Amino acid sequence: MAEHNKIIIVGAGITGLTAATSLAMRGHKVLLLEKNATCGGLVNSFTREGFLFDGGIRAVENAGMIKPMLAELQIDLQLLPSYVSLGIENKIINANSSDSLGAYEKLLKELYPESTLDVEKVIKVIGKFDTYMKVLFGGDSPFFKDAKRDLRYYLTTFIIWFFRFLATGAAIMRMQMPMEKFLSQLLQDKALIDIISQHFFKKTPAFFAMSYFSLYPDYHYPKGGVGRIPSALKERLIEIGSEVRTGTEVVQVDALNKLLIDSNGNEYTYDKLIWCADLKHLYRNISIEDFPEAQKALIIEEQKRILASRGAESVFTLFMAVDLPPEYFARISEGHFFYTPSRKGLGELHRSELSALLADWDHLSRERFYTWLEAFCRLNTYEISLPVLNDPDAAPEGKSGLIVSFLFDYELTRRIEADGWYGEFEQRIRAMMVDTLTQSVYHELKEHILFSFTASPLSIERGVNSSEGAIVGWSFEQAIPIDAGMLNMKKAVLTTMPDLYRAGQWTASPAGLPTCIMTAKMAADLVHAELS
Ligand SMILES: Cc1cc2nc3c(=O)[nH]c(=O)nc-3n(C[C@H](O)[C@H](O)[C@H](O)COP(=O)(O)OP(=O)(O)OC[C@H]3O[C@@H](n4cnc5c(N)ncnc54)[C@H](O)[C@@H]3O)c2cc1C
Repeated sequence: MAEHNKIIIVGAGITGLTAATSLAMRGHKVLLLEKNATCGGLVNSFTREGFLFDGGIRAVENAGMIKPMLAELQIDLQLLPSYVSLGIENKIINANSSDSLGAYEKLLKELYPESTLDVEKVIKVIGKFDTYMKVLFGGDSPFFKDAKRDLRYYLTTFIIWFFRFLATGAAIMRMQMPMEKFLSQLLQDKALIDIISQHFFKKTPAFFAMSYFSLYPDYHYPKGGVGRIPSALKERLIEIGSEVRTGTEVVQVDALNKLLIDSNGNEYTYDKLIWCADLKHLYRNISIEDFPEAQKALIIEEQKRILASRGAESVFTLFMAVDLPPEYFARISEGHFFYTPSRKGLGELHRSELSALLADWDHLSRERFYTWLEAFCRLNTYEISLPVLNDPDAAPEGKSGLIVSFLFDYELTRRIEADGWYGEFEQRIRAMMVDTLTQSVYHELKEHILFSFTASPLSIERGVNSSEGAIVGWSFEQAIPIDAGMLNMKKAVLTTMPDLYRAGQWTASPAGLPTCIMTAKMAADLVHAELS
């Protein structure tokens, strides 16, 4: 006999937890189903031998959203500042204030003295976007305000915010073109274009890439790791009478009869379902046979579009525990560090050369592959996170933990594993990453590693069912399969199936923590309105 729950939410990542808590705070009883033993999805932290590591996102942008969300859900969490540094070769600057753009301009001019005009042009664009972002994310977003309780806010601040939001949104829509195209129209220097853009996903919309600089001062680090946010949400949810059932993977959705089946064969019926997990997983596992023909056709059309699409790029991550004190690293950078060991830039290594490797895969020699990989590691941009520089309790006394990653192709990792040499590859890439960092920025690193381990796009895919190991929803390299722009997110949470909503990183584009939270709140608001 199926268990009936009025509201079921699938996936206890940040999205599912936010949607569930938001509904529970308004008196609804929610059942949240999560396949893993722990909640948080791509927002997770873990400890190994006394070192705290963040497994997915390394710090959170408040974006006018996280703090209001926590306040509205009455969650008291210590959010420490998470300062950002940017570095190329031996030039490193901090990016923590509005003056940082000037320092960045100086750094680029020193590295690219032949291209000062180019540098000035790009700095001007980044400056313009800083203004737009202050409108979008500068103050507290109204999404977590309750109109009834905060009428004064709505009659004053909100109206002004709303008109500015619309104007900014319109400016953003005009800058949808891929950043590669935008930068190549603006600048001549190919290496400079690479350095500015190579840590973004391919074909990231120009406005998103150009606005990123202004997000750096907005990063925060929850005391105890980013995973403290989902744990606090889960605790709150249970405290107010809802249920989180972990170790429960939904494997089938009968959308007409509003029935779910989990991997243990348990059945659940619902009045309202919010899907907060990978969308391909949903559309691969829905049964829709008994729908009337016209509706079925609509669902099939949506299903085809979604299943034909790909997730965004993924990351390869190296976790290291070292017996070097935090002061050693603090002398070099802040706790969140975007570092490029060479000013040359990746060039075509991550585009046409990667495509050529994949096209020639069956005839490719390992040595050719490793030659490519060595250059890829040497010329790439690394995202380095040192939790202990944000939170002194994140590592044993006198020691430090590092999380080092760069964007990495899912398909490459999949083929290496399918061909049976993943272990060898993992050893080689780990050594290449360590050598690159030791030769460039952390000269004592290699001799001081206590232990290290890695995570690949396959770990992400398996960990949270994220298609192609994507870390932020849909790839920008193809048309986004859902209508999910900044100005119509509210529509994006609706599906073609009755009482089935979606939210999270597959429901918005460009996605990320702020949009996960926004879509979670929008789906929760719709469900609340319909059940009230
Ligand atoms: C390395 C890294 C860096 C990042 N950096 C940033 C950043 O700087 N800024 C930013 O905004 N974003 C960043 N992100 C992205 C951000 O973390 C994600 O977009 C966001 O956490 C996604 O949340 P979600 O709840 O929508 O999805 P997920 O976190 O994927 O949660 C989905 C949950 O559903 C569960 N699940 C899946 N299938 C099922 C099923 N069938 N049944 C039950 N449960 C299921 C999963 O186990 C998971 O817990 C980063 C991510 C990573 C990995």
